[in-house]
Amino acid sequence: MASRTKTREKKEQAKQAEEVFKAAMKEEGYRCTRERLTVLREIYLSDSHLDADEIFVKLKKKNVSISRATVYHTLDLLFKFHLVNKIDLGHKHTHYEKSYGVSNHLHIICEQCDRVVEVHSEELNSILERLCDENGFTLGSYSLQVFARCRDEGHTGNCELKTQPAH
Ligand SMILES: [Zn+2]
Ligand SMILES: [Zn+2]
Ligand SMILES: [Zn+2]
Repeated sequence: MASRTKTREKKEQAKQAEEVFKAAMKEEGYRCTRERLTVLREIYLSDSHLDADEIFVKLKKKNVSISRATVYHTLDLLFKFHLVNKIDLGHKHTHYEKSYGVSNHLHIICEQCDRVVEVHSEELNSILERLCDENGFTLGSYSLQVFARCRDEGHTGNCELKTQPAH
């Protein structure tokens, strides 16, 4: 049941993000193509942190006809419109995650197996708020990452494109 509710929420979130994307493209004079919307949906219906090639491969598997260049260009657009965050998982390429309707969080990334855990913390929020305040800023959004080593053995990473082999 719980997971069904979650799926419904995710679909709703994807729909809202799609509306924001359509409106932004219209306003900035970009053509609203089916390919661009497919990239947005792929990201919003996923719970992981995808890189451009992973998105391309996923879409190809679903028989979506799209070029790598379109995927890259769409990701740039989504970033420009604040619909995705870029994150660095320690690979030699950028990963993307949805940001519309998602609260600020920290990523804990295992250096050995690539496992990524998301942490939402009020305590961390307060610390960052205070640090910004003390330096004359008002906290905006953030997407942080720390590199660590998970204590469980046997996790496998989900990025086939990681350039450094796991030790
Ligand atoms: Zn690990
Ligand atoms: Zn995340
Ligand atoms: Zn990667």
